[in-house]
Amino acid sequence: MIKTDILIIGAGPTGLFTVFEAGLLKLKTHLIDALPQPGGQCAEIYPKKPIYDIPGFPEIMAGQLVDNLMEQIKPFSPGFTLGERAETIEKLEDDTFLVTTNKGTKHNAPVVAIAGGLGSFEPRKPPIPNIQDFEDKGVAYIIRDPEVYRDKKVVIAGGGDSALDWTIFLAEVASEVTLVHRRNEFRGALDSVERVAELSKLGKVNLITEAEVKELKGEDHVTGVGIHHKTKGEMHLATDHFIPLFGLSPKLGPIANWGLEIEKNAIKVNNAYDYQTNIPGIYAIGDVNTYPGKLKLILSGFHEAAIMCQSAYQRIFPDKKYVMKYTTVGGVQGFDGTKKEAKKEVVKAIN
Ligand SMILES: Cc1cc2nc3c(=O)[nH]c(=O)nc-3n(C[C@H](O)[C@H](O)[C@H](O)COP(=O)(O)OP(=O)(O)OC[C@H]3O[C@@H](n4cnc5c(N)ncnc54)[C@H](O)[C@@H]3O)c2cc1C
Repeated sequence: MIKTDILIIGAGPTGLFTVFEAGLLKLKTHLIDALPQPGGQCAEIYPKKPIYDIPGFPEIMAGQLVDNLMEQIKPFSPGFTLGERAETIEKLEDDTFLVTTNKGTKHNAPVVAIAGGLGSFEPRKPPIPNIQDFEDKGVAYIIRDPEVYRDKKVVIAGGGDSALDWTIFLAEVASEVTLVHRRNEFRGALDSVERVAELSKLGKVNLITEAEVKELKGEDHVTGVGIHHKTKGEMHLATDHFIPLFGLSPKLGPIANWGLEIEKNAIKVNNAYDYQTNIPGIYAIGDVNTYPGKLKLILSGFHEAAIMCQSAYQRIFPDKKYVMKYTTVGGVQGFDGTKKEAKKEVVKAIN
């Protein structure tokens, strides 16, 4: 059982910055994310796009912002459960929450901060009748550990950046890589398209276009795929792995069944005070929440995280009076939040 002070669901920019704000208050944090890497939409959808409305950064790449946030929270050593989706929540007798993921990992905390953005990203699955039977038995929709494919035969399907980038990467790892795409044209970055064409010419990638994987073969594990080619008809290819990379679509998912008030696919919160939901102890911050005037921007999530952590502190330590202190005075290690301690620090800084 993982125990923490604030359990954060979603490791997007909002969830990551919550670690910082909580850390200033000496509160421990742990993050759960369905994706294998932190960064939410910034890392998954547009890591190489510049953002222009992060205060203090006239221009910053989304991926760089995530790297900076990871650097900023390092002093607080948050825990991570990545590649797992928060599935159920239960209120325990001691007034804390038990959150269990789809892989059975259990987390316990007195405060839960849902920073789930647009929801957990679910892979778009191709319409192959028996695909579910082979999930984790040769079929994967997200590449978590490329070493799994070392010296193996791999078939990738898709025509976007993800399919192209992994084809290029696995060409050096797998014994055989085939990329199947239903059109002749690709949607990915031009240099990736050119690199795949070059690898195909060199015989390092087997490129099959105007074709679709229609069938999976094998018993306990994938052993081959059936491909329908527009002009050549049916083909069979032996493989150890099939990786369809057709993108991810966000869904609020299991959180929608947690008894929270939902409005237009977002969680209603009290924005006059602390971004708490209708269940005391559960907060919702960032893109996942809604209130009058809500702006779905990164800076809104940062602001909401700061407010929410102050309220969480009071919930965890009802007998302590918290006094906010500037980081210029307390540094990033923060202080224990008591008035006496704050006074001591301010006197020290002035002297
Ligand atoms: C193309 C594009 C460009 C954008 N440009 C800008 C811009 O210029 N400026 C700006 O301010 N904003 C921009 N945005 C919006 C910005 O990315 C979002 O406001 C921001 O990502 C919200 O952060 P978040 O942490 O709240 O949620 P997200 O970034 O969506 O992260 C939420 C995370 O929660 C995880 N999650 C959800 N449910 C679960 C669950 N049950 N279990 C486990 N994990 C879960 C998801 O996997 C995800 O990683 C842009 C968005 C897009 C798509």
